[in-house]
Amino acid sequence: MPAAASSAGEPDASGGSPVTAGWVEVGDRVFVRRHRELDLNCGLVVGEGACLVIDTRSHLGEGRALAEAVRTVTPHPWTVVNTHAHHDHCFGNAAFRPAPIWAHRDCAVELDATAEQQRASVVADLLAAGDPDAELVATTPVELPDHLVGDRVVLDVGGRAVSLRHLGRGHTGADLVVGVDDVLFAGDLVEEGAPPAMDDAYPLEWADTVTALLGLVRGPVVPGHGAVVDAAFVAAQRDDLAALADWLTGRSAGLAFDEPTRRTARTRL
Ligand SMILES: [Zn+2]
Repeated sequence: MPAAASSAGEPDASGGSPVTAGWVEVGDRVFVRRHRELDLNCGLVVGEGACLVIDTRSHLGEGRALAEAVRTVTPHPWTVVNTHAHHDHCFGNAAFRPAPIWAHRDCAVELDATAEQQRASVVADLLAAGDPDAELVATTPVELPDHLVGDRVVLDVGGRAVSLRHLGRGHTGADLVVGVDDVLFAGDLVEEGAPPAMDDAYPLEWADTVTALLGLVRGPVVPGHGAVVDAAFVAAQRDDLAALADWLTGRSAGLAFDEPTRRTARTRL
């Protein structure tokens, strides 16, 4: 997740065909909703009599707003997937209960172990910024994923095959990539508009994981934050991550990353 929180506001969708409530259709009945808050992307896949929501935003109120936005597109019952255990992708889960919530098995463990630490950190940042969402994060119930993925699961979302894959460690130890038709939701394994976030990352393994992700790219790639990208963008970010790993292991004296990023990455080794 990016370090800086932004102020509340309407979704800022871009690219593709405009639809309602901030959704943009990037594939056949596959939608992205890009939010001003943290420039976060959530996804929606609509099938016959069922839909899938990808990531749930930062607190119950934002989750409810997302749920309302889903209802402008489809009345079908939803299933949820969390791409990873960071608060901005899963603290809105409670808004979608009693639906099943899918995630990597270690994501559930990570969220259980870190939720209160994440909450405290985010609340402190929001309070410092005078953001009223601090109270909403402070009181949000954390709902752990209860349908767990090892390496791969294929969901039937109203007749549509949606793959949930764990390709290796990277942004966290438990990132999932969600694929439907030619659209790939990359979670924060790919980030547009900001450097890849290293908070609890695996910088020496991340490039290999993105290489595996590249092998799945057939069309649009939806990053966890920022604009929808393509294979060339993902390849360039992979190369940056590989350069970082080389620098960290002393294989090169590359200067691809600025000092704050280096310091952050170095402290996580
Ligand atoms: Zn993240």
